[in-house]
Amino acid sequence: KEVSLPKDYTPKDLVSIPKEIKTTKFICIKKDMVGSLQKMFEDAQVDNITLAVSSGFRSAERQSILYKALILLKGEKAKDRIAEPLHSEHQLGTTIDITGKSINYLGANDKFNLTVEDLWLRENAYKYGFVLSYPKDKESVTGYDYEPWHYRFVGVAIAKEIFDGAMSVEEYFIP
Ligand code: ZN
Repeated sequence: KEVSLPKDYTPKDLVSIPKEIKTTKFICIKKDMVGSLQKMFEDAQVDNITLAVSSGFRSAERQSILYKALILLKGEKAKDRIAEPLHSEHQLGTTIDITGKSINYLGANDKFNLTVEDLWLRENAYKYGFVLSYPKDKESVTGYDYEPWHYRFVGVAIAKEIFDGAMSVEEYFIP
């Protein structure tokens, strides 16, 4: 929340998510995480869990529109629900919001909490290199409300360290 990206930052290796991975709209992410994401979704499906990506890369301009809209709607308290432009993990291209069939693919919605998809991800996402950025018991550390749908790709080795240490991403990178 306190750390910003350089102005005009755009990841160089963005690709649109291939059709083998279910999404709720046209979404781009960094190329090097596509394989891990696809494997995670396929393995989830084997367990009868149907996942979909509802958000991925977001430009600072897009974030600005969403940020202003939410502040208008909810006032200052919205600052714990959405990042300011240049402060969003979504601008990194490594971060996705995940939803599932059981809530009819609603994106970034509190209804995702405790769904079968949420419970599967809590147990398994780190095995594919994904970690929850804003865990429930880390709100005072992250500065954001719990977001069960918001996952950041950090690679398998780091994800396992974060998972085993019950850390937030901040606690790992800024000890
Ligand atoms: Zn998100």
